Amino acid sequence: MPSSKQPSSEPPNSSERLSSNLIVDCARLEAGTVDCIEVLRRCQLSDLVLPCARVLDDLLEVEVMLRKAAATYLAVGQVRGIWVAECRRCLEEVRGPLEAALDEVFEWEPLEGETWPIRDQRVDLAPASHQVAILSLPMAPLCSSDCAGPVPERFPTGSAAPPPANADM
Ligand SMILES: [Zn+2]
Repeated sequence: MPSSKQPSSEPPNSSERLSSNLIVDCARLEAGTVDCIEVLRRCQLSDLVLPCARVLDDLLEVEVMLRKAAATYLAVGQVRGIWVAECRRCLEEVRGPLEAALDEVFEWEPLEGETWPIRDQRVDLAPASHQVAILSLPMAPLCSSDCAGPVPERFPTGSAAPPPANADM
């Protein structure tokens, strides 16, 4: 009598599930046994979204070089992904490469809004990566520079700028 097998509860692509973990152990840097730590990780971060644009699949590739400078760690590198947005004229989906420079300072007593914390000789690159990715999303993308929009005869794009409110100033 064949035993009925329960279907696996694992999602099919569970082996490809990406972590959101961008925590880097800097103990070797702190001890001076290495000059720098190279980080290259693909990860999924939540809330990579603006009202007008988002990061495709919340997926970022973070490539960073960490160095020690006095009592701080410097993280210099790049955050890459693909942005998705609506063309501001025709509302079609537009995609483009996201490439943002990351140049951040980590320290034991961080300055609010300026530097990031070191905890237990570890740094978390996630908040900084999230921030630079969000800042590099397009604010008003176009599917092409000559997109005429859905109704070009009614909304000519030649004068896309709003009428000047105080033209006779
Ligand atoms: Zn368009």
